[in-house]
Amino acid sequence: MPKKVLLAIFFLLIVGTIVAVKLLPGHSLTSVVDKPNVANQTDYRTSPVPILHQDNPAYLAATQQSVRIPILMYHHIVDYHNASDPLGNNLAYAPAKFAQDLDYLLANHFTPTTFRAILAGKLPDKPVILTFDDGYDDFYSTAYPAIKQRQLTAVVFVILNRIGQKSYLSLGNMHELLDGGIEFGSHSTTHADLTKVDAAQLEHEIVYSRQRIDELFHYQMISFCYPSGAFNDTVINAVQNAGFMFATTTKDGIANLASPFTLSRIRMTPDTNLAQELQKFK
Ligand SMILES: [Zn+2]
Repeated sequence: MPKKVLLAIFFLLIVGTIVAVKLLPGHSLTSVVDKPNVANQTDYRTSPVPILHQDNPAYLAATQQSVRIPILMYHHIVDYHNASDPLGNNLAYAPAKFAQDLDYLLANHFTPTTFRAILAGKLPDKPVILTFDDGYDDFYSTAYPAIKQRQLTAVVFVILNRIGQKSYLSLGNMHELLDGGIEFGSHSTTHADLTKVDAAQLEHEIVYSRQRIDELFHYQMISFCYPSGAFNDTVINAVQNAGFMFATTTKDGIANLASPFTLSRIRMTPDTNLAQELQKFK
């Protein structure tokens, strides 16, 4: 055989192998969506809150009493700055600044809580909820150790089809975080703009994200976070009908539990002054 033909065959074999490896389960973009169920050690469905629907007495009380609560919105906890990436810079929050936030909250008698804790009737005097959008792996590597060290808690909003992908939480991370008392909420299946999808896609983004996490972890999510903060009445109804009890937006301000499906948040950027933001909570 001529040398050129041999080289061509060799080249095709290499390319074929790379393509085959990429297509293996675990490399597929929808790995968590399609993968068989993982073995469960714990059934989180009724623990620690037995009533995960809107008849929960503590839920009714909190929403009827118009409880106000600051909800902080973080994305990445990482040291990052790139002059040509203003959006990335804005989503990156320095680990040292994050640790300062936690210490500030503790020193000022705020108690980080979760939506599940509210259902358990454990609403502290000065509640605050730390939320983390998108489910990045730096939550596990950087934010969680700081939270755990201070025996605090947080809520992480995961995008179903990113779980296990590069820079996102793995299934193993999530098991460990659930065991550590971290609450998971849904940030949809693909992070689509929910105001721009048809009814079938809306169901896939909202209902399926909740079902799939229940299959994977025996865990029923009660909180939802609208991707890119986009919602309308159709989206709110779909979220409510899917069994969620709270939904967070990107509207700026202190949340009021009287509107549990349009909760405002405080966006945490490198320029945010937490003390100043919390002045609004009086
Ligand atoms: Zn997001």
